[in-house]
Amino acid sequence: MLMPLARGISVLMPDAPKFYPYCICIYIAGEQRAIIDFGAGQRAFNEIDKDSIELGFFTHNHPDHTHSALLFKNISLYAAKEEQLSYRNEKEYFKLRGFEYWKRFMPPGKPLPETPDTTLQNPDIPVEPGFIKIDLAGTITDGQQIELGRGIRLTAVYLPGHSIGHYGFYFEKEGILFGGDIDTTRGGPWYGDGCSNVGQFINSVQRIKEINPGTFASSHRRPLTEKIIPSLDSYLQILLDRENRVYDLLKRPHTIAQLAAYHLAFDYNLFYMEDFWEMMYAHHHVQHLMEIGAVTEVETGVFQQA
Ligand SMILES: [Zn+2]
Repeated sequence: MLMPLARGISVLMPDAPKFYPYCICIYIAGEQRAIIDFGAGQRAFNEIDKDSIELGFFTHNHPDHTHSALLFKNISLYAAKEEQLSYRNEKEYFKLRGFEYWKRFMPPGKPLPETPDTTLQNPDIPVEPGFIKIDLAGTITDGQQIELGRGIRLTAVYLPGHSIGHYGFYFEKEGILFGGDIDTTRGGPWYGDGCSNVGQFINSVQRIKEINPGTFASSHRRPLTEKIIPSLDSYLQILLDRENRVYDLLKRPHTIAQLAAYHLAFDYNLFYMEDFWEMMYAHHHVQHLMEIGAVTEVETGVFQQA
């Protein structure tokens, strides 16, 4: 369903009861037509004239943002320079997702599934789970401005943390910011990839607050026009609470596996991947706490308050 935000700028809601493994996308009708993110699914994208779309931008390379891109035949696609290789090469994609950490963190009895993104098995999603090869026409960088005609201009805003090349898009004149997976959902920030980064996530939320948009659209929640700053604050607080818990636990020495066993973030098994993501969250919190000098590695793989 298309939901207009301003003249020529709409969100395209997935035609599904849940916003995962889908994402909310942006449809822009300037002189040139453009789409931001491609995870709305076939039913939703059938609402628009796909062949008329000339430009496409990815917020980042996660399958719920890319899976329906192949429905667009006349499009030039752009994504972050930082993630460029991961669209082209399966090995680079696995590196981006951090699957090389699997062997380091996971017990031998739980192998990495051959297709880690099994949630994509769905007739409305036009690809099979696993690596999706996408040919990019070029890359985007922070502050880059894109003119689409009819007075519509968007600016790429580098918002890393969720992933290394995570971008938002800002329509300054209209005061609309699309924040991608900085989505103010109840589960809080997600940073389970190899390239995720807690410090960057905190800074990116701060950057959105400084932009102070009048409308904040994001990938898995309906657009907000009020209480945007409090929503961002309570969303980020979930990450900060986890970090404080890790810091408290590190009064005594812990390994990453021991920290993850406290289930800091996930207490359910929906994706098969939660155990792994718990490890990655613990790993990223420890990395951040070491960056700010609050924690040290007392022996190899064992961490404690400094
Ligand atoms: Zn994502």
